[in-house]
Amino acid sequence: MASLFGHGILAFTISKVIDKQDLKILMILAIVSSIIPDADVLAFSFGIPYEHMFGHRGFTHSIVFALLWSTLLTFIFSKTKRLVFFSVLFLATVSHGILDAMTSGGKGVGFLIPFSDDRYFFHFRGIKVSPIGIEKFFSEWGKQVLISEFKYIVIPCFLVLFLVFLRNKYRK
Ligand SMILES: [Zn+2]
Repeated sequence: MASLFGHGILAFTISKVIDKQDLKILMILAIVSSIIPDADVLAFSFGIPYEHMFGHRGFTHSIVFALLWSTLLTFIFSKTKRLVFFSVLFLATVSHGILDAMTSGGKGVGFLIPFSDDRYFFHFRGIKVSPIGIEKFFSEWGKQVLISEFKYIVIPCFLVLFLVFLRNKYRK
C-alpha cells in the first residue's frame, strides 16, 4: 500500500472534484472506500498467501470489487444523487489499487480478478511502499514513504484542490 494518509487525500480530492455539493457523508465514504481494500492484510493471519486471489492486493484491489462496493454504498446512502455517489466511490475505491501499482515494493495489484490472477504494476513506481503495521511506520522507512507521497500524491492533489477552489469561487 501507499500509506492510509496517501490513499485518503486522493479520495478526498476525488470527492471535491466531482461532488459540487460538497456532501460530508460522501467525502467520508470516499475516504473509507480508499482504505477498505487493505482490509485484505487480514488474509495473512488466515494463512492465505500474498499471491492468492484473496491474498493482499488481490480481490479487494480489483476493478470488480470497486464496482460492487461502490454500487452497494450508493444504494445504501443515496436516493437522489446516485450517479455522483457512484462516480466518486468507484473512483475512490479503484484509486487505491492505482496508487499501490505505483509503489516500489510488494507484489503487483490484481486489477482483473476474478477474470485473471495476474498482478500488475505501472511503469512508474516512484511511491515508496508503506510498511504494514504502525511501529514500523515511525522509522526511516516511514519517513521515506511520507517524502515520496508528498511529491507524488500530496502536491498534485493540492494543485487540483486549488483549481477546485477557483472553480467554486468563480462559479458563484
Ligand atoms: Zn493496498
